[in-house]
Amino acid sequence: LDREEPNYFGAGPALLPTSVLQEAAYDLINYEQQGLGIGEISHRSKPAIKVIDETKANLAKVLNIPDTHEVFFMQGGGTSGFSSIVYNLIANYAKRHPGKVGKAAYAVTGSWSKKSAEEAVRLGFDVDIVVNTKANKFDDIPPYSEWKAIDKENTAYLYVCDNETVNGNEFKDIPTSEYLPEGVELVADMSSNILSKKVDVSKYGVIMAGAQKNIGLAGLTIYIVKKSLIEQPTDDELKSYGIPRVPIAFHFPSVVANNSAYNTIPIFTCHILKLVTARLIEKGGIEYIQKVNEEKAQLLYAALTKYPNFYKLPIVNPKVRSNMNVVFTLPKDLEDKFIQEATAKNLTGLKGHRSVGGMRASIYNAVTLESVQLLVAFVTEFAEANQ
Ligand code: PLP
Repeated sequence: LDREEPNYFGAGPALLPTSVLQEAAYDLINYEQQGLGIGEISHRSKPAIKVIDETKANLAKVLNIPDTHEVFFMQGGGTSGFSSIVYNLIANYAKRHPGKVGKAAYAVTGSWSKKSAEEAVRLGFDVDIVVNTKANKFDDIPPYSEWKAIDKENTAYLYVCDNETVNGNEFKDIPTSEYLPEGVELVADMSSNILSKKVDVSKYGVIMAGAQKNIGLAGLTIYIVKKSLIEQPTDDELKSYGIPRVPIAFHFPSVVANNSAYNTIPIFTCHILKLVTARLIEKGGIEYIQKVNEEKAQLLYAALTKYPNFYKLPIVNPKVRSNMNVVFTLPKDLEDKFIQEATAKNLTGLKGHRSVGGMRASIYNAVTLESVQLLVAFVTEFAEANQ
């Protein structure tokens, strides 16, 4: 089983290391010489539980997850995270503040946080939008001092999308205690940048990530949740408070009590995650990958900004440009030519999201420095020949 090394910059599902896929492909057929594939065995069997436990342990090691936090998985992706977070955290708030119906604060800094806020509203929860940059096409993340104050008496959590995959902006810091009142939990969607950089997990109430971009395959959502946020009132209590019960497959307490196997977890996807995290640990962990990711992003942004009249970067503030999704435009009439010539050089997956157009190079963990160097050479050559 082999392939030519792809130089693939698609945003998701995204590239995985060939060596991981080769190992996983074998395991899909015959896992640990048992004569059955990893996807064919019961999710409650010993080997499956071992995969879940090892994946959790690898994540805890790579991200230095403290004992105050629980790691668990659910079927689904980022969008199921949008719904599960609001249901669970509002129910939990009523446990921590008996009977109280809390609300949620959302920072809308790109299309994914916008979707998540809309979902919370659609499900009937009370939402405060504390910042919204849509009018400026999400071209910056304003400093916290410019955000609307959080209603600290009633707010369960502040939600941010740490890396906006479509628009190409990324948070480089977390709210200070001046902005985020004590007791209001920080919740982050890290679907497109989890394991790309060091994060201080202790500062977060919830980190949620669909697995299929930076670290795995579709089908699984990773949750890293402060233990104090898992408990909930009983169903009868929730009913008496007028707070909806959490759909059972999304119900944090049930999923945690069953070690992520309340229902059938996609164990093959989890296995891939285990292999990816093991490989990352072997290579030097988060410090190593963060350094490589920063180098890749710097190289590419430097190449693009060298031709300011040709390539435009929609994220105007260089400080918040994403290290994972590099979004850029070039003269519209040259877009097809750009894609054609890039494809001829085996540089693929560069078309921007349909909602914003232009180009996007997703340079996730599995995209090598060599691939980025090839892309840098191409964008330079293309600008020189066509500007
Ligand atoms: N959040 C972010 C940051 C994303 O990039 C995406 C998908 O692209 C999602 C959420 C939605 O994920 P899913 O398609 O798995 O529901």
